[in-house]
Parts: sequence; structure tokens; C-alpha cells
Amino acid sequence: MKERARPKLGDYQRKRRPEATNEPFGGEVPASSSEGTLVGAFVVHLHDATRRHYDLRLEVGGALASFAVPRGLSLDPDEKLLAVKTEDHPIEYLDFEDVIPAKQYGAGPMIAWDRGVVTYLEGPAEEEIANGKIHVELRGLKLRGRYALVKLAKSAKGDDWLLFKKADEHASKERNIAEELPRSVLSGLTVEELPHSERISEALVERAHARGATRLTTRTTRDLFAPERSPLVTPRRKTVVLPRTAGGWLYDADLDGVRILAVRDGDVVSLRLWPANGVAQSIEDFYPDVVRALRALPCKRVVIDGELVAFDASGHPSSKLLAQRVERVAKLDTHRATTLTPVMLIAKDVLALGDADVRPLPLDARRALLAELLPAIGFVRAAPPLEGALATILALCAELGVTSVVAKKKASPYSVDPKNTAWVSVDSGAAPASRVTIDHLAQGAAAVHRHVNVTNRAKVFWPDEGYTKGDLCDYYASIAEVILPHLAARPVILVRYPDGIAGKNFYQWNVPPGMPPWVRTLSVGAPGDEQKRGFLLEDASTLLYIANLACIPLHILACRLPKLDQADFFTVDFDVKQSSLAHAVTLAKRLHEHLDAIGLPSFAKTSGQSGLHVIVPLGEGQSFTTARALADLLGKLLVEEFPELATMERVVARRGERVYVDTGQTGQTRAIVAPYSVRAVAGATVSTPLTWDEVEPSLDPRDYTIRTVPARVAKLGDPMRTLLEISPDVARAVERLGERVGRSA
Ligand code: MN
Repeated sequence: MKERARPKLGDYQRKRRPEATNEPFGGEVPASSSEGTLVGAFVVHLHDATRRHYDLRLEVGGALASFAVPRGLSLDPDEKLLAVKTEDHPIEYLDFEDVIPAKQYGAGPMIAWDRGVVTYLEGPAEEEIANGKIHVELRGLKLRGRYALVKLAKSAKGDDWLLFKKADEHASKERNIAEELPRSVLSGLTVEELPHSERISEALVERAHARGATRLTTRTTRDLFAPERSPLVTPRRKTVVLPRTAGGWLYDADLDGVRILAVRDGDVVSLRLWPANGVAQSIEDFYPDVVRALRALPCKRVVIDGELVAFDASGHPSSKLLAQRVERVAKLDTHRATTLTPVMLIAKDVLALGDADVRPLPLDARRALLAELLPAIGFVRAAPPLEGALATILALCAELGVTSVVAKKKASPYSVDPKNTAWVSVDSGAAPASRVTIDHLAQGAAAVHRHVNVTNRAKVFWPDEGYTKGDLCDYYASIAEVILPHLAARPVILVRYPDGIAGKNFYQWNVPPGMPPWVRTLSVGAPGDEQKRGFLLEDASTLLYIANLACIPLHILACRLPKLDQADFFTVDFDVKQSSLAHAVTLAKRLHEHLDAIGLPSFAKTSGQSGLHVIVPLGEGQSFTTARALADLLGKLLVEEFPELATMERVVARRGERVYVDTGQTGQTRAIVAPYSVRAVAGATVSTPLTWDEVEPSLDPRDYTIRTVPARVAKLGDPMRTLLEISPDVARAVERLGERVGRSA
């Protein structure tokens, strides 16, 4: 049998007086299992004693082998750190964090800097220690990857080892993890702050009052600290129109965990959930790690609304592991269960802090308090609010295996008028890959609840560039604000490309069955004709929904509800298939001059392929006959002025190398590609609105793609944003145009 080191607590206990120290004293060390220790828990303490040092403590045979590391932990494999092996510590020391009283052994503050699981890679820990070489893999909240401890053959005195990081994906020469992440994974305090935790807590409660919290009363204390019914606000569901801008909202990942109320009152901590029968269940026995972390918080009275979550090895939330944890606590010993299946409380809201009832504060103020109270890295942590473009959030969710996102209004207090219960539950039938739940507390108590499943995100839609369906959905989500005004109240013709641009495609004339109930539709088609039921694209959720149906281009008709028989714009299309863009630029600019002269504003956009579109708004609407006549007349004027460059010849062979001035896209059933629509062509180009200054011979429509347009929009906004607000005097314009044509003739 190989040599094995057995842990002993004799040295530890001799150095401490149980009546004077607040450290755990430890009892008998349980006998090691016959196979030795292969997996266990570890803790790294930061200990501000006579000399500041880190203590790395690894579970071995029911106790903790301890190494004092004066220089701190490093991620650089070239840095060999002195690690002095000290006395074995009792297993209870894993949870220790406190200020060791003056005059006692090791006097000074000590924080739990990291916690996690250690795996012994080359045999049982007992044998490794005896042989003077320990190879481990650490899976902590901060430290990750392989480390080695090697005993120095000739150390001057005592038990000197070298600790170093092994080269792996977690190694880094640049990062200084000790400086970067100085806080406790339990209290969230630095070692300097730990002795002043009371003052820190008082200051936090004062800030809550300064921001407008009310003082807890006897009744609200009972409601919050000993609740009979759940004070948790459950997002309620009602279909209303989503605001087009994302300002004023924050998003929370829904982590596939268990929603609970965590209540700490002094040393008493309870974790409560309310099952369907509404009777509170206390579940703290299953989560001693979460209870321990709540007890370490500087604030001794706190009520938190959050989610218990277990993460798998790749960091994805897992409801299966969470269930496993409960089973393991019931069957195994609790220490083993918490080590093998750690659980965290992701705090999403705070209801009370000290004597402050913070429920009346706006959500963003409550979240700020949470972020000040809790560590960013710890067993109880503040949920990082997901901010920014929905597209980015979606991408992040898909990466993290997050099943849904909840949007919350930053200004909302933690209470909703209970009279409003007219909520509808919403679910889209498709299998969720990355589901977005948009749960807005909009306009007072009104709320929205929507799911959009973005499925098959990784499917390649543009083979040359490798752009995926996820890229398409992210694009539309990110430019929703500028495209939606161009789509609103308007018939939109969808073309689906389920296998990307190289695959088959088909028109989606009617909305497919199984659509979520919040999707709005409109009927298109002359009376007596077959009526088509199309999508009404007026909000970001519906836009994302149709992008998820693999609709690449969006074609719009030149009419809006309620007057679908009136043209609200006309288009002149400069088709350069047989000519050059420089010629189209000359013609478009000249058209712009003519239109200016007759009092009609006009807007240019790339077609998304090779040509240019000039769009002329007609305000409330004109008959399609008038609109078409105007377009034709302008086209003829251009052809007369530039016979070498322009043609309206329908027969392709007769066009020669001229720009085809196509005025035929104006008509009750004629559609053009919408501003900001993606094209189903190589390069994933976008039909992009331009300023007239940009309509220059150097223009290259290939520059405008799903990759470049979102940044352009973020910087410049939409050059076409006033298109639909303009009400030109069309009658007067027709009159003036007649005069111009007469003059040129
Ligand atoms: Mn120490």
C-alpha cells in the first residue's frame, strides 16, 4: 500500500483557546474512506494577520490541508509561489469568515476569498501529500483550472512548497486576479472592510432612506419577515403594444431556477417558496450554502426576491441539477451534497434593508442597493441587469443557455395594483431554443408578456460569409426602432428562406397557424377577391417572430391602414444591371432636383442589390392612378434629359447599357423592398436609406450589410425618419410638373 498522510487536528487545537476564539474548534476527524480523497471542497482565505497572506485549504480526509501563500494567488504558470504548509484545519473552517479577536492566534480579519470544488488529478490527496506533489483541478467562483503544489526537498525550516498554475485555458500572464477580485465570496466585503461591516450596513440603510424608502412598521415588518402569503410580485401578463425604444427598461435572465423569498433577521435565515396551494414552504435546510452566505452579509435584516439556481460545468443554469441537489441533501450528507452541487441565490430585487421598506423605491434604485449589498461573485449575488440592444441580449442568452429574459420597467415600485388582473398568458408553440419573455410593466399597471423563440440560431443562412439565422434575427432586433415606423399599419409581403439564401424560398401570404395570440394581423385584398391575412408588424416582438420564421426580405405595399386603396408614396427604381451605379447616381440626383422644384420632398435608399430607389411621400394618400402618373412623368423627363444614360424600355434587349428607370413599382398590388430590409443575396446587404449627400458616384451599396447597418443607425439615426410625417401639396406639385415638362418639350 502506498504511503498516505492522515490529517490531524492536534496542532490546530493546541494553538487555539475555544473560549477565546470565534473560529470553529473541530472535533474528531472522521476516518478516511478506503479509496482516499479524490474530490472535495476548497476555500481560499485572505487573512490580514500580522502579515497579510492567502490561505489555500484543500479538503483531505475529512479535514483541510492548509497552505499559507504570502504573495497571493497567480494565474501565471511561470510564477512559482512559496506556500508554507501549516496545521490542518477542521472541515467547518470552509465557512469561516470573521475578525479573529486580538491576542488570539492569527488575530485579524479573514475573508473567504474563494470557494469551490477540488479534484485530485493523480491519485488520492492523502498519497499526493505524502509524496510531496499535489496535482489538482480547482473549480471555484474565481480560481479555475489546474494547479500544482510541489514540496521543496530542502526547506530551511518547516514544510515549504511551491504553488503554481499549470498552463491551460485559465492561465494568464496579464490578469492579476487578487487585485481584480478582492472581495469575499460570502459577505462581498474586502478584508479591510470586514471589521467595519456594521458601519457599512448602516450607511447602506441610510442611503435607502435618502432615496425615499419608508420606515418599516409593525404591520409591514410582519408582512415581510413572517409572511403568510407571498409578497413576491409575479409578473402579470397582458397584451399591449410594446414601446419601440428600449430606454427605461432593464432585462433579467430567467435562469430555470426556483423563485424564492430570502429573509434574514439577525442569525435566522429562511428561504420560502409558495407552491400552487399558496402555503409557504421553508426550504432553507436544502441550501445551507445560501443560508451561510446570507448570514455573512453586513446587513443583518434583509428581504430578497431571487432565484435559486444550479449551474452545470459549462456555467449554464440547470433545473435538473437543482432537483438533484435536493435529492442529494436528502440522501447524502449535506457537506457532500453542497460540494458536488453548489447552488446560488441570484437576487433580483430587495424588499427591505435594516429598518427600511424599499418597496416604494423605483426598481433601478432597488437594484442599485442590491448591487451595493451583495458581491458580484458569490453564493448570493445581485443579478447583473442585461442592458443594451435586445439583439445582444439574445445572443448572450443563447450562449449562456438562458431560457428566457424578463424586461422590467426601471421606474416601477415593488407593488402592482392587484385589481388589474386582466392578464393573458402567452406562449408560442415552437420548441424553445432561446425564448424571450418580454414582461413590461408599461403605463401604470399595464404589462406585456411575450415569448419569441429564436430557434436554430446557428443555422448558416449566408454560406459565403457564414452569417447565421441568429445574425438575421439579431439584425432585425437591433434596428427595430428605425424599421418599424416604415412597416406600421402597412401590408408586408414576407418571403421565407428556411434553409438560408441558397435553399428554396416561398411567399408567406397568410399568417401560419399556431401563432402567438399577441401577433396582430390585417386583411389584404379587394372585396370579393380572396382575402389574405397578413402580419401587422408594429412591435419588436412581432418583427423578431417573423425573422425567426426565416423571413429575410420584407416587401411593403405603398398604402397604410385604414386606406389601403390609396398610395402614400411612390417609388422610382434605378436598375443598373446593364449600366453603372454612377449613372444611377446622376439620374437620382437630377430627379431629386426636379422634385424639390415642384415641392415634393424625396428620399434615397440603396435597393440592397445594385440599384437605387427614390421614394416620394404623398402624405395621407393619393389614388394609385395619380401616383403612377407622377412617377411615369418624372421618368420620361429624365429619359428625355439623359437619353444616353436612361431608358424606360420594357424589353431588356433594347435597353443597351443604360439605367432602367422603373416606375412600375407603384400600384395597388406592387411592393418594394422596405427600408432596412435585408436582401437574400450574398453579402447580406441591406436596403439602406441615405442622405442626399451620400448619393455620390463613390457610393458602394455592398458597404451596407447586416453587419454594418446597426452601427450606422446607432450613429446617424434614420435619414428617412420624416418620410411618413410629410404632407406635400400634391395637386400643386402636379401642376408645376406639367409646366416643367412643357418647358423641356
Ligand atoms: Mn492564515
